[in-house]
Amino acid sequence: MARVIKKKELIHTRLAANYGGWMYCDTCDENIGYLCYSTYDHLNFTYQCNCGSQGSVCIDFEDSQLGIECDDAFAVIKNRLCCPKDQEPLMTVLDKKLMCYDLRIACKSCGSVYKKIKYKQAV
Ligand SMILES: [Zn+2]
Ligand SMILES: [Zn+2]
Repeated sequence: MARVIKKKELIHTRLAANYGGWMYCDTCDENIGYLCYSTYDHLNFTYQCNCGSQGSVCIDFEDSQLGIECDDAFAVIKNRLCCPKDQEPLMTVLDKKLMCYDLRIACKSCGSVYKKIKYKQAV
């Protein structure tokens, strides 16, 4: 069933489909990750690509819940960040292509909100 988007903000970023699929940096055209279509409840992702461009993706839906903040780490299954409670695949972030990022994503199935941060390396 199609979901009704309430908010969608893409800055310097392209998504292969309406609210999922491969994600590309709009400045250098590199793919930077993959967003699973139906398993997340809302997403807030900001990053700096290796090309220097700063981008972000914010999406939520009419029926999105606030969710419960959770300090648990993602379960990583074949490179995909998954909910550690129910193993729902949520998103792939191609770490090597990004200098830094801040990811917050909610699992639709259990309502947990997970975060992952990559800090910029000191030069
Ligand atoms: Zn880029
Ligand atoms: Zn879950």
